[in-house]
Amino acid sequence: MDLLLSGRAAPRRQTRLVRVGRVLIGSAGPVVVQSMTNTDTADDFSTTMQVAQLARAGSELVRITVNNDEAAKAVPKIREKLLQMNLDVPLVGDFHYNGHKLLADNPACAEALDKLRINPGNVGQGAKRDTQFASIVEMACKYDKPVRIGVNWGSLDQSVLARIMDENAKRAVPLDAGAVMREALVTSALESAAKAEEYGLGGDKIILSAKVSSVQDLIAVYRDMAAKCDYPLHLGLTEAGMGSKGIVASTAALSVLLQEGIGDTIRISLTPEPNGSRTQEVVVAQEILQTMGLRAFTPMVTACPGCGRTTSTLFQELASDVQSFVRDNMPVWRDQYDGVENMTLAVMGCIVNGPGESKHANIGISLPGTGESPAAPVFEDGVKTLTLRGDNIANEFKAIIERYVARTYPRKGVPA
Ligand code: SF4
Repeated sequence: MDLLLSGRAAPRRQTRLVRVGRVLIGSAGPVVVQSMTNTDTADDFSTTMQVAQLARAGSELVRITVNNDEAAKAVPKIREKLLQMNLDVPLVGDFHYNGHKLLADNPACAEALDKLRINPGNVGQGAKRDTQFASIVEMACKYDKPVRIGVNWGSLDQSVLARIMDENAKRAVPLDAGAVMREALVTSALESAAKAEEYGLGGDKIILSAKVSSVQDLIAVYRDMAAKCDYPLHLGLTEAGMGSKGIVASTAALSVLLQEGIGDTIRISLTPEPNGSRTQEVVVAQEILQTMGLRAFTPMVTACPGCGRTTSTLFQELASDVQSFVRDNMPVWRDQYDGVENMTLAVMGCIVNGPGESKHANIGISLPGTGESPAAPVFEDGVKTLTLRGDNIANEFKAIIERYVARTYPRKGVPA
C-alpha cells in the first residue's frame, strides 16, 4: 500500500551490471535508451548518418543489422566514421541465422561492435543449433563483448516450445496456449543464458529480452523472467506498430513494468511514417522515462488540451513553438548548463487552470481565453513576474526562457 501511495516507481529490481562500450546497463545505473537503424548496413555512409542522427537524438546505444558479409565488412567502417564525427555511441550487432559464420569470417566486425544480439530461435536448427550458438558465444568471449540473448515470439525456438507443450500435456490441469507460449519464451531465454555461461561467457556479460507484440503477454513474460534471474532486462514491445497505436501500446506495456522496477534498457519498436524520422523512437523512449519521473532528458512542456474557451489558434501555436524551441536549443543548453533538462514549462489556454498550472512549473504562461482581457501573465518559480501583450508574445516568452536558463542553471566547468 505504501508503494501505491508513494507517488513513485518501485525500487529497481537488483541486477548484475553489464558494460556495453562506455554505457553500463543494470540496476546500479539509469534505464538506458536504445534504438535500431533501418538502413542497409552494407551502405556504410547511410548507416553512419542514421546512427549519428539517433545518437544525437539521445539514443545511448544503437543496434544495426548484420545480415551478410557486406554488412559485416561495413561495421568497422561505420565505427571509424562515427569516431571521426566524435561519436562513441556503442554499436550493437543484430545477428540471425549466420552470425557464427559472419563473426568468424570478419573478426574486425566483432571487434568494432560493443555488444552482440543473438536470437536463440534463429541460431540454427537441430544439432547445428548448439554448435552455432556456442561459436557465437566463443567469439563474444574472445573479443570480450557482452551478448543480449533476445527471444522473440515470432521466432521462438520450436524445440523448446515442443518440450513445454509435452510437459504441459502431462499436467493435471494443463495451461492454456498463451501461458504455454509465455513459459516457452522465458525458458528459452533462461536456458540459453545458462548455456552461454557454460560455454564461458561471464554472467556479467549477459542481457536478456523476450519480446511479444501483445501488451498483457509482455507484462506477464517480463514479470516471470524478472523473478527468475538477475540478468539486466532489455524491454520492448516487438512490432508495436505505427503512429499513436505503436506509441500507446509500447507506453502501456513498458510503464507497468518500469513502475514495478523491471527493465534496465528500453527500445521502442515503432514503424516510422513514410518519410518520418527514425528518431521518433528515441523521443518516445525518453518521454516514457521522463514522464514517469525515472530520468530527465529535455525540459517538459505541460500544455492544457484547450477547449471552448480557446477560440484562437494562438494557444496551440505557442505550445508547439515552445516545445520545438526547447528541443532545438537542448543540444547547446545540455553542453553549457547543469540540470537544465529538469526545467518544467507550462503553456495554458485560459484563466481556469492557467495561473495555477503555470505556478507549478519553473516558467509558465497563461494565455487569455475567449472574453478575457488580452494579457498573458508569466510565472517564474511560482511568482508572477510580468504580463505579455500584443503580437510578439511567442518571441518574448522564448526570450524569457533563455534568460531563465542562463541565470538558473550553473555553467558547466565554471566553479560555483
Ligand atoms: S485551462 Fe482553460 S483553455 Fe485550457 S482546458 Fe482548461 S478551461 Fe480550457
